[in-house]
Amino acid sequence: MIIRMKQNITKKEYENIVKYFKDRDLEVKDASSGDVIVVGIIGDTTKTMDSDVYALPGVDTITRIQVPYKKASKTFHPEPTVIDVCGVKIGGGNFTVMAGPCSVENHDQIVSVANSVKQSGAHILRGGAYKPRTSPYAFQGLELEGLDLLMEAREETRLPIITEIQSEDLIERFVKDVDIIQVGARNMQNFHLLKALGKIDKPILLKRGLSSTIEEWLMAAEYILAGGNDKVILCERGIRTFEKYTRNTLDLSAVLAVKELSHLPVIVDPSHAAGKWSMVEDLSKAALAVGADGIIVEVHNNPECALCDGAQSLKPERFDNMMKQLKLIAPIVGKKIEE
Ligand code: PEP
Ligand code: MN
Repeated sequence: MIIRMKQNITKKEYENIVKYFKDRDLEVKDASSGDVIVVGIIGDTTKTMDSDVYALPGVDTITRIQVPYKKASKTFHPEPTVIDVCGVKIGGGNFTVMAGPCSVENHDQIVSVANSVKQSGAHILRGGAYKPRTSPYAFQGLELEGLDLLMEAREETRLPIITEIQSEDLIERFVKDVDIIQVGARNMQNFHLLKALGKIDKPILLKRGLSSTIEEWLMAAEYILAGGNDKVILCERGIRTFEKYTRNTLDLSAVLAVKELSHLPVIVDPSHAAGKWSMVEDLSKAALAVGADGIIVEVHNNPECALCDGAQSLKPERFDNMMKQLKLIAPIVGKKIEE
C-alpha cells in the first residue's frame, strides 16, 4: 500500500500515521521526494480498511499494490486450479459443458433433457429446484421434489448434477445429494451463505452478481475460500447495462480479467446473458475462443411451454448442433472437450 500525504501535513500527523501501521506489525518506508510526501506500507495489508486509513488526518490518497483477495489471487497460487467433479475435470485446459433446463418441472422433462444433452456430449446436468424469481407469483421451483427428480436423472444418465441453493438451511441436504452447488447472481453477496459454503467440501459455482464488479465477485469467492473450501468455479452470466435488447450484457472480457487475476476456473452462461436462444450458440463459441473453462447452457425439450426461461432455452437438436461446432473449434483454441 502506498500513501500520499497532504501537502500541509504536520509532523505530529505524520508520526501518528507511521505509528498506526507499526502498531499493526506493518513496516513503513518513507519514499518522499521534494514536496511529495509518500510512504510505502509493507506487509499484509488485507485487514487494513481504506476507510480507516482515510480517517487518519494528513492522508491524501491510498494506492493498493496487493489485491484484497489473497486466496483467489494468482500471486501465491500461479497454477490454475482444476476441480474434479465425479471424474469431470473443470479448469486446466478442459472445456466443460453443463446443460439442462432452467428448472426441473417433472420426471419426464428432466429425464428426457438429461438423456439428450448426455447424448450430445454434455458433462454435467443443470436444473433448478429452487428458483430465484423476480415475482413471488411466478413458478418458484419444485424445491425438494425437484431435487429428487434431478437425482433420478443422474441415476439414469450418470451425469453429475448442479443446482442452485438459496439458503443455509439446505446445505446439509445439498452436500449429500448434489455434485456442484450453484450460488445464483442474486446471492453472490449473501455473505452468510458464502461463509457457510466455505465450511463444506463441495464444489461451488459462484455466479457474478447482477451489477457486480470483478473485484466484488472475486471478494465473494474469497469468502468461500477463506472458510477452507477451495473448490470454487466462477461463472460470468452477463451484467446489467443500459442495453435492453439482450437480457444482460455478456462481459467476455471478465473471463480474461479473471484469468489474469485468479487461478480459479471461470465458465460462461450465455443463456442468462443473452436471454434469447438464437444467440446462445455464437456466444458459446465466443466463450470457448476467449479461453473460458466451460459453459452452462439452458436446454428444454419444449421451450414454448417451459415454466421458466423458455425464450433462452435451446431445443435438444440445436444443443446437439452447437456441441458439434464447439468440438470443431476446441482444438484450434487449445481446449479439450472430453467425450
Ligand atoms: C439460473 O441459472 O437459473 C439462474 C437463475 O441464473 P442467474 O443466477 O445467473 O440469474
Ligand atoms: Mn434460467
